[in-house]
Amino acid sequence: MPESDLLLPVANQRPLVLTLDSHGQPYRWVSWQHAVIYYSRDMVAWAIGSESFTVHGGVCRKTGQRSEIRANSIIAIRGKSLPPGALIQTPPLSNRELFHRDRQVCAYCGVDLPFSRLTRDHIMPVSQGGADSWMNVVTACRSCNQRKGGRTPEQAHMLLLYAPYVPNKAEYLILSNRSILADQMDFLAHQLPSQSRWRKR
Ligand SMILES: [Zn+2]
Repeated sequence: MPESDLLLPVANQRPLVLTLDSHGQPYRWVSWQHAVIYYSRDMVAWAIGSESFTVHGGVCRKTGQRSEIRANSIIAIRGKSLPPGALIQTPPLSNRELFHRDRQVCAYCGVDLPFSRLTRDHIMPVSQGGADSWMNVVTACRSCNQRKGGRTPEQAHMLLLYAPYVPNKAEYLILSNRSILADQMDFLAHQLPSQSRWRKR
């Protein structure tokens, strides 16, 4: 089925589809168009998830029938095999995922703020040799970050309300999709690191 024949899925929903490798390890998000290509090339080894959507394709000239693909929200890709330990590889650090990791809460005053009012604070300041890495950064509001300046929390007499941690791949996938579906969230939530603030309590 040529890609250009694809029409919008029913109800105009465009969820991202969670792909897994053939062993069930979370791999990456793909668009529904990309998922349809996996289906049409018979690359979907198995599918799970309660949510699915239907994509209508073009009309076949011979039969006059319209093609239809029913895609699931979580699909395992045939022949795709991630190296062992792929789940614990360190994901790249960005403000968006950092603020998500910390649930948009300032690590010093505990205030919950929109992304636009948050900053990346280096616990051990870069000027004192601190690294720009998951374990040395927390979310801070602008005023706390300014107050702390180029000092450590001890030097500034400011207490950290929570500890930093490195998200794993599953958590990173949660953090990087704002419109995650409930079943995708459930699937990934079972593979979170123990410190994750996204674990169900
Ligand atoms: Zn603050």
